[in-house]
This record gives sequence, structure tokens and C-alpha cells, in this order.
Amino acid sequence: MPKIRKWLRQIFRDTQEEKAGRKGSDPAVPPLPLLPATRKHILTPTSSLENLTPLIQPNGPFFERLPPELRRQIYLATFGDRTIHLDLRQERPRLVETPKAPTHAQVSEDGGERNRKTGGRWVWWSSVCHRHPMAPAWADQCQLGSSRRMCDTFYAGQWPGKCFLGIMGWILACRQSYIEAIDLPYRANTIHISGITLTRHLNSMLPSQRLANISSLELVWNLLDHGPREAVGRPEGSMAVYEELMATIVTALPALTKLHIWVEARSYSSDPEARDIDLYESGLLEPADALVQKYGSKLIDLQLAPNLNLFTGLMRRAERKGVHVEKGGIGIASWRRFWRPVFIDRDGMVHDTAGYWVRQGKDDTPMW
Ligand SMILES: [Zn+2]
Ligand SMILES: [Zn+2]
Repeated sequence: MPKIRKWLRQIFRDTQEEKAGRKGSDPAVPPLPLLPATRKHILTPTSSLENLTPLIQPNGPFFERLPPELRRQIYLATFGDRTIHLDLRQERPRLVETPKAPTHAQVSEDGGERNRKTGGRWVWWSSVCHRHPMAPAWADQCQLGSSRRMCDTFYAGQWPGKCFLGIMGWILACRQSYIEAIDLPYRANTIHISGITLTRHLNSMLPSQRLANISSLELVWNLLDHGPREAVGRPEGSMAVYEELMATIVTALPALTKLHIWVEARSYSSDPEARDIDLYESGLLEPADALVQKYGSKLIDLQLAPNLNLFTGLMRRAERKGVHVEKGGIGIASWRRFWRPVFIDRDGMVHDTAGYWVRQGKDDTPMW
């Protein structure tokens, strides 16, 4: 197993798309939008808010009359307590930007007509998440032009403004508004990232001080079409990608308290407990164990949700080992999860109270 991992690490770099993008070897694939080595303008010098605070002059009644605690509460109510999509993907420019029917965030329900004459480009996209409150993250439809009815039925506010956080105007209003609110999108919301590319390059795409603000994160990964070409679709290929992503989380996101990972790591098998389940069991769960050990008690809520077929195999094994299992719901709302205890060795003392839930993920049952 270690030899396989070493071999895979050597040959594994990125997907062909990312590789071409970074090197610029394929004119149809633009370079990844990485941060420059040095930034032209430093908006938040040093990591210290205190360094800037003495420079701030009172700037209007909002800052002069309301105490900081009250301003903070207003900020949280206005810009916090939501799930925010943070997305980067490669796509061709849209020819038609306006959707035919009202949709969430005015996303074209068919993805929009594309200009086929030009190559793709990397596009950042963000919105407030307006999926059905009962829907799991893997079933999120926000980027696919979900109906406006979803926004209006479950979420307050005026459409389409409520589909966006709308913080940019406030951040750019003045120096003090910037300093007081720049961390809020990351600190006060759950960030939802769907896809591999952004997670893999977090350290070189977002400033470290913003990453250090993220406390709650929801990740949706499909590992099946990533990895070294010769290993795509095989357990070793999925696990090599997965290991890198988990290592990136630990180095990039020091303040995480909540982390939910939805991962599609194995193609459907008619036998959920096929022989390769051994490899998935260690390959998926041991890096998650390591997360618990690294973050310790700071990471209060870690949940790992493998796709249904894979989860079923893992669950059966867990049940035989006598771990704590919970089940509930009916029909499509049914759910299952088992507790994965993690032993933390601290000062020579072994603590076994830590752990995380492994829960049922994406339903990958074929439609035949
Ligand atoms: Zn919406
Ligand atoms: Zn969403």
C-alpha cells in the first residue's frame, strides 16, 4: 500500500485540464487564476486589525453612534448565517446571459448558449445557496438554474437580490466599513465548494488571511474522473486525489470548526462489499482520522459522506464491528450513519472520545 501511494504521488500531479492551464501549453485552456507572487496593493496590511484601528476616523452616524458590538450584530444579520457558493470552473463565455424564466441568481436553466468559437476560461461564481432545506449538498441545484420558486418558498427577502450576499458595496464604501466587514463572508457563513480544482489550489488562489477566517465548510468532490490517467476509476486513483485534498485542508484552513465532505469515490458496484472495499475503508477513513487528530477539539463537527454504494459497504463492516449506528427517515428522506471513533494520543494519554460521523452520501444507484 505505501509503495502504491508513493508511486501515485510521483505520477500524480493534476488533471490534464489543470496541467495545461497552468503551463499554458494548450491555447484552448487558459492558465489557472492563481494569486500573483507579490500583490500590487495590500488592502489589509499585516494580519493585525489593531494596526489599522488607530488610523480610522469616525465616519458617519453608523460608526459614531452605534457601539462595535451592535454593529457586529447588524453585520451578522445582514451578511452572515447563510451558505455561500464559492465556485471556480472552466467554461466558454455565454452568448445569452439572461435566462428565459426567473431562476435562482438568474442562472440560465440550460447553462446558457455558449460561444463555441473561443476557448474556455476560468470563471469565478458565487451566490447565496437556495437549495431545498432538506436537500443534501450533493443534490444542490443552485448553479443549474433552479426555479425561483425555491428562493421564494424557503428564503426571505427580495428576488433576485437575496440570491447574492450583496456585501461588495459596503466593503467598498469606506476604509472602516472594509475593515469591519471584509472577513464576514468567510467567518460568518458556511462556504460551499463543489469540485476539485478550487480545493486543490486553495493556498494559491485565495489570500491566507481569508482562508484563516473560514470556520464552516461544505465540500462536494467527485473523484472518479480525476487523478493520473492510468489510475482513473480505480481505487488507488481516487484515494491519491483524496489524500492530497485532505492534506490541503489541514494546511490551508486552520480555523475550521465544521467540515462536511460529500465524496464520490467509487463507481457503482452490484456488490457493495467487493474486495476493494478494504482499500476504500483505509483510504477514505484514515485521512479523515488524521484530520480529527490534527484539529483536535477545535473541529467540532466533521462528517464524511461517501456515495451510497460505497457507504453501504463501509456501513456493513462497521455494523459487524459493533460501532454506534443511527438510521432514520422514510423513502428518499431516509438516512444512515455510523460513528467512527478516533483515538487521540495526548501527553501519553489515549483519548477515545473524539471521532466523526460517516454518513450516507450521493445516491449513485443506476436508473436501470
Ligand atoms: Zn435564489
Ligand atoms: Zn446551493
